[in-house]
Formats: sequence, C-alpha cells, structure tokens
Amino acid sequence: MLKVLGFWCKLHMVIIVGAGLVGAVLAIKLAQFGINVKLLEKNSFEKKSVNDGRTIAVTLGSKRFLASCGLWEALEPSSQRINNIRVFEQGSAWTLDYDHKDLGSDPMGYIIKFEHLRDAIYEAVQAQTLVELFANCTLQTLLPGEVHTKEYGILKAPLVVGADGRQSWVRSQVNIRSRTKEYGHKALVAHFIHEKPHQATAWEVFHSSGPFAMLPMTDTPDGNYQSGIVWCGSKDAPWETLPTDQLESQLENIFPFYGKVTLNSQRWTFPITSLTVDRVTAPHTVLVGDAAHALHPIAGQGVNLGWRDVADIAQLLVEAKDLGQDLGSELMLAKYSRMRKPDHKGLYLFTDGLTRLYGTDNSLVSFARQTGLAAVGKIPFLKKILMKKAMGI
Ligand SMILES: Cc1cc2nc3c(=O)[nH]c(=O)nc-3n(C[C@H](O)[C@H](O)[C@H](O)COP(=O)(O)OP(=O)(O)OC[C@H]3O[C@@H](n4cnc5c(N)ncnc54)[C@H](O)[C@@H]3O)c2cc1C
Repeated sequence: MLKVLGFWCKLHMVIIVGAGLVGAVLAIKLAQFGINVKLLEKNSFEKKSVNDGRTIAVTLGSKRFLASCGLWEALEPSSQRINNIRVFEQGSAWTLDYDHKDLGSDPMGYIIKFEHLRDAIYEAVQAQTLVELFANCTLQTLLPGEVHTKEYGILKAPLVVGADGRQSWVRSQVNIRSRTKEYGHKALVAHFIHEKPHQATAWEVFHSSGPFAMLPMTDTPDGNYQSGIVWCGSKDAPWETLPTDQLESQLENIFPFYGKVTLNSQRWTFPITSLTVDRVTAPHTVLVGDAAHALHPIAGQGVNLGWRDVADIAQLLVEAKDLGQDLGSELMLAKYSRMRKPDHKGLYLFTDGLTRLYGTDNSLVSFARQTGLAAVGKIPFLKKILMKKAMGI
C-alpha cells in the first residue's frame, strides 16, 4: 500500500480544475516543463463560445511571461501597445503622466480583447501532447489528490490546482474560507470609436459618477480609432437602458479628449466585488488566479496577478520534479504560500485603498489626493517605482 502511495506521489502529473485565462496558461507552462496535466473544465473548449467585451490590460511583465509560454506570436497582431498612462481627477488641474520612454523603449503594457486571449490560449493548450482535456466536466467530490467526476470517473494526481474562478468549487471542497467585499458598484464595459487618435494612451479617470478607465484598442477593420471603457459606478446607474446618444454625450462631457465618440459594441455590465481567502493551500491542493484572490477591476491587475501565481507554482513544480520530489508536498505548498502572500496582500490593499480614496467627496481628502498626484509627478524616483509596479516588472 505504502509503495503504491509512494509511486503516486512521484507521478509527474497535476490536475487543474478550471481552464480560464489562468488555469489554461498553467497547463501550457507545466507541459513545457515536462509535467503531465489533466485539465478539467465545466464548459467546452470551443473557440468564441463566450465574448464578454472585456479589454484586458496585460502588463509588460505578463507579456514577457506569455512569450515564455510560446503565446505571444499569436497574440501580438491583436494587441495594442500602451505607451503612456494618464491619471486625472475631475475638477483637478493636475494629471499624472507616465511615459514608457522614462524606462526604455518597451511599452508599459498592452490591451488585448478577452476573446483574443482566450482563443490563442485554447488553441495552444489543445496542441500540447502532455495536456489531457476533460471538457463539460461535472465535479462531484474532492479528496487529497483525487477528483471524482460524473463523466470521467476518478482522476488522481499528487496535486490538484483550483483555477476555477471566484466561486471556486475546489476552494469550498477543502474548506478554505473566503471573504467577498461588495462595493455596491457595477462596471460598464463597452467599446467606442472616436474622432481623435488615442496615441497608445490608457487613461484612469476619477469622476464623481465613479472611476473609469479608457483603454486604447487596435483600430477597427475600417480604420477607425477605438477604445474600450471600464466605468465603475453605482449599481443603480441606468447604463443598460440609457439611450445610446445620451450615453455617448455623457462620455464626451466627462472625457472631452477624443472628440465625438460613437458606441461600437453592445454593453456589458459586471457586479464589482473583491475576494480574499484565509489560505491558498490545503493538503495536495493549491489555489491560483481568481479562486485565490479577486480584485476590484479599477487597476486592471486581476489576471496579471493570476499569471504571477502560475509562474511561481510552475517554477516550484519543475524544481520538485527535477529533484524527484512529491509534486504535492507540504514543503512545496508552504513555499508557494510564502512566495505569493505579499503580492496578493499588497495588490488587494492597493486597489481597495484606491476605491476608498476616490470614493469620497470630502474636500480635505480631495485636496490630499490632488496634492499626492502632483507630488508623485514631481518625484522621478517615486514615479519610476510606481511605473514598474504598474508594468509588473
Ligand atoms: C470588467 C472587468 C475588467 C477586467 N479587466 C482586467 C484587466 O484589464 N487586466 C487584468 O489583469 N484583469 C482584469 N480583470 C480580471 C480578470 O478578468 C480575472 O482576474 C481573470 O479573468 C481571472 O481568470 P481565472 O482563470 O482565474 O478565473 P475565471 O476567468 O473565472 O476562469 C475560471 C474557469 O474555471 C471554470 N470553472 C468554474 N467552476 C468550475 C467547475 N466546478 N468545474 C470545472 N471548471 C470550472 C470556468 O468555466 C472558467 O473557465 C477584469 C475583470 C472584470 C470583471
């Protein structure tokens, strides 16, 4: 019996539950490292099955990681460089301008439509011989290193990775407690074409109706300038039903920099919540991506944080494999927890703090905010630190 258990622990096999942007990239990275993967997904792996309008900000650090996974060649044609980031607050004379040239010739990041990311990742994951796909999978029970499924029977591996998003089934099976914070806000996502070019600039605008990001997109096929908006406002905002001309003129009033804007997509809304967990591991189990942390979308960092989880767990797993160790050992899991904690905690506190800082009309707080923006702009050293953080490098 012990012999069988010993053999099972030495298997170079990992089960990943959830093939979102994080779980599927982990499968690709592990396969590159010679580790077998069983990738379980409740939906199909069909391309273009869901389009939800998200324009994902991919940091320079994430771009480099995706390139190391062999994904960048497929993504580059549909990616829009971010050369500058401008932050400004309604009514303030100050803007904070980050220019990529302050740090070199690389852009600060890229904007890629969610469906382009997903399609490129799905195509790559399906080409991996070491990855076995289990689509339309219904999960029943999780025991350490053992997943019971309705369609595929019992699957075993020394490590089960929960990459199954905010409502993680894996997390609940291993009794990891989570806390969800409701902001009473929702995010409107839509794409607009506009008269003036965006000049590869991403805007973070703090407005009394809620903060919004104006993200540069690649030109439309007929050559129009295009940007995506993520507008975070009250959950009662009438965004779904507001006549199009009124939505466009509201945006033009708040954001006059691109001239006439025209809605060029349907509108999508997302409830805004964040999620934190007590721990990210349990025996033979680990959480990555939104299963382990979900952030307010204000800073566009959620999936970037998830890919950093992927980079770290993949590195620990390949080291364990090369040393002939158990891929689900307590030691390895403890290392992963220690490695990821500062990043998870730091980014959560930053994004949550930002929403609180900009969620008040108090004039003293407003003065402090504007002074802070101006000060950061004037201290090159501090500005560079913040730029590097935003770029994930
Ligand atoms: C409006 C908005 C804008 C955003 N913009 C950005 C941005 O610009 N930059 C950024 O970095 N992040 C952004 N994010 C956050 C980002 O979208 C998420 O962090 C990221 O998609 C999480 O990926 P994931 O793979 O961890 O989870 P998910 O995308 O939730 O994927 C989970 C996967 O698991 C599967 N699954 C779930 N349950 C089961 C089950 N029981 N069995 C099998 N499979 C299961 C699901 O079908 C899915 O495929 C944004 C989020 C929102 C809402």
